[in-house]
Amino acid sequence: MIRKTRLYTPGPTPLLPAAQFAMAAADMHHRTPEFRALFQKVLAQLKVFVGTKNDVLLLSSSGTGAMEAAVSNLTSPGDPVLVLTAGKFGERWVSLVKAFGCKPDVVSAPYGETFDMAEVRKALKPSHKAIYVQANETSTTVRHDIQAIAKLRDEIAPETILVVDGITGLGTTHFDVDGWGVDIIIGGSQKAVMIPPGLAYLSVSERAWTAMEKSTNPRFYFDLRKERKNAKNGESAYTPAVALIAALGAALDYIAGQAGGDLEKGRIALVNNAEVNAAATRAGLQALGFKLFAPTAPGAAATAVSVPEGMDSGDVVKALKSRFAIVPANGQGEMKGKIFRVAHLGFFDYLDSIALIGAMEHIAKDTLGLKVEFGQGVAAAQKVFAEAVAKK
Ligand SMILES: *Cc1c(COP(=O)(O)O)cnc(C)c1O
Repeated sequence: MIRKTRLYTPGPTPLLPAAQFAMAAADMHHRTPEFRALFQKVLAQLKVFVGTKNDVLLLSSSGTGAMEAAVSNLTSPGDPVLVLTAGKFGERWVSLVKAFGCKPDVVSAPYGETFDMAEVRKALKPSHKAIYVQANETSTTVRHDIQAIAKLRDEIAPETILVVDGITGLGTTHFDVDGWGVDIIIGGSQKAVMIPPGLAYLSVSERAWTAMEKSTNPRFYFDLRKERKNAKNGESAYTPAVALIAALGAALDYIAGQAGGDLEKGRIALVNNAEVNAAATRAGLQALGFKLFAPTAPGAAATAVSVPEGMDSGDVVKALKSRFAIVPANGQGEMKGKIFRVAHLGFFDYLDSIALIGAMEHIAKDTLGLKVEFGQGVAAAQKVFAEAVAKK
């Protein structure tokens, strides 16, 4: 039997063919009018994709490079900051701010849950230079309430910079970046924008630019003020990942094309697409008897699923790969063996969700020995999809 390889990992995600063609054709030097035109077009598109009037910068790095920039550019050694963590990526913020000599106060939530806002309220102080948080904690698939956190910041610590790792939040969550006062929000190329890893992007507010003037932490490659200056002339400070930028332009064209060429509407449609696929997947897998790992605040970027007590989620990962060439993600760290994760962000459609649930019906029977009927999960997912279409 032919088995097509299908990525269901929450980054890297499946590649958009039009973006791959654009990459292959991107034979240009970066100090030319051709590149400057491309770069300026993509930066303008990114503003619409992020939904902000603030500057948006592009960095040639994985997402963590922009996370590092959001620490090194904004802080000085000894600065108090607040980190909100509920999983592996929150823990990355803790390590990062410590690496740059900040003094973090940490509010954490158990894996699979989001924050108790009363705890955040108690911990937040006007002296905090910045708040660091994920929009979507990809390791547990929980979505955090960025609007509520922004409101608390406005009330308690109006000078504090709000930095959001939106690497799997962008394209899967409706944000009002400027309305809520999100100072920095970070995205990565291998997530909802359907292209390979290697680019990070971030929006930067006036409040953040002002804060940067006083920060003394060292930075060189990820010097945001230098990137801003160069971006004004349609260039980046160093040799950019030209081919990935061409791919990003093609992907954003595609997203706009999903809504008649209107990128803002296309972004909204992309978020709604992820929401419907996540809801259908949750319903389908629950109908097979699986428990969600993040039932109270599930995000639309990916869904983490627990396997029954005494079973190993690695067996599900292996069976999906060997029988159906499906590539899901295992749990990270302590969650390894307990959960598996499947993505909905970017270039996933309804039939991808159906394929995954159909495959899981086989795995549930044969690998895990659960009592399920063929069609039991698929039917539940179809119902969710039909209801979502009827509502439109
Ligand atoms: C993928 C991801 C990152 C970035 O990781 P890189 O490997 O540096 O691209 C950061 N935060 C979240 C929430 C992610 O999902």
